[in-house]
Amino acid sequence: MNDIILLKLGELVLKGLNRHNFEEQLMANAKRRLHTCGDFKVTTKQSITYVEPKSGDCDMDAAFEAMKKVFGAAGVCRCRACEKDKEAMLSAVKEFLGPQLMAAKTFKVECKRSDKTFPLNSIQLAQYLGGELDDAYPHLTADMHHPDLTVYVEVRDAAAFVHGDTEPGAGGLPVGMGGRAVSLLSGGIDSPVASWMMAKRGLCLEMVHFFSYPYTSPEAKQKVLDLAKILTPWTGRLVVHVVPFTAIQEELRRSCPEELFTVLMRRFMMRIAAEVAKRTGSGALVTGESLGQVASQTMEAMRCTGAVTDLPIFRPVVGMDKEEIVRISRKIGAFETSILPYEDCCTVFTPKHPRLKPTLAECLRSEEKLDVEGLVQAAVEGIERVHISAER
Ligand code: ATP
Ligand code: MG
Repeated sequence: MNDIILLKLGELVLKGLNRHNFEEQLMANAKRRLHTCGDFKVTTKQSITYVEPKSGDCDMDAAFEAMKKVFGAAGVCRCRACEKDKEAMLSAVKEFLGPQLMAAKTFKVECKRSDKTFPLNSIQLAQYLGGELDDAYPHLTADMHHPDLTVYVEVRDAAAFVHGDTEPGAGGLPVGMGGRAVSLLSGGIDSPVASWMMAKRGLCLEMVHFFSYPYTSPEAKQKVLDLAKILTPWTGRLVVHVVPFTAIQEELRRSCPEELFTVLMRRFMMRIAAEVAKRTGSGALVTGESLGQVASQTMEAMRCTGAVTDLPIFRPVVGMDKEEIVRISRKIGAFETSILPYEDCCTVFTPKHPRLKPTLAECLRSEEKLDVEGLVQAAVEGIERVHISAER
């Protein structure tokens, strides 16, 4: 029999009647991620999703890596399926975990029998396998409390499965379960992390990037597309809505008080993102704002920027230190790209003394001079949609 991959479902096993939908979504997401690794069968039974290769040319290493990035799975392990027969299980253990058995000094066997028709109970099976392994590997001693290696044998309906330790999965909820949201993606460190965190909570994301050509370069835009690509193993394929933002910034510079430039610009970003949300059936916005990090991220500024839309705004990194954000950025492989030194549209026009506590009244007063609606419409009409596939 072949090696297979098991996904142990996490939080979603708690979801009662909704559980079926969660499992379906997780399986659909897993199948899409497996696309480039070969032909696989994906099924779920007893809170475990089984990923089985249908042919010998499947890339199991790549599939295993891909499955570790599927939100909704708490643990992932590669295991060997075998006949539900104790001798077959013993040889599967020796074959599949041979190198680990040789390397360990202490071990234990843990069995689980969900197929109650199997003649030995879990304890009897563990005693049999433990005894046989003890004889076959004289250097090993049994240790029930802190073994170097735990050999797991699970007797399930379809077959018996042998594996070593389960690796942590991506956790969270399957992408798509929580609906769709628009995420504002800059080229910085914070917004890719914020996007990843909300995808982890089951959101399917539409990315929006504000591009200020010629003040920002094509390389700066490419960097953002690269960041989106880095997210796709978790988020699935993405569309980046690239919004031409130069006209709005020039208009603001021409006709608004310099110290309000940042907050007014961010109000435009939110309006445009809300319009993209409307057009894509999204129900929320996501940003990488962190309280107090820069002038536009005070609570007064957030109130002004949030006031242009009634959509909920998710700011998952709002209470995090830069160090904590960087840790996640490194973990998801975005950091090295995020720190490439290309300018962002925010940095190009940053005022010397931005207002730390802007009020809504002064924002509204400054905007009276502007054709807000017209500027937003023109920007939305100029959007370029870039499709980022999840292919390796
Ligand atoms: P980041 O590291 O995500 O760039 P930051 O610390 O540089 O964040 P700001 O530049 O104030 O903070 O931006 C705050 C948030 O606004 C970003 O996290 C992002 O969600 C959004 N944002 C900023 N600039 C852009 C842009 N050019 N395109 C899309 N979203 C943007
Ligand atoms: Mg930024």
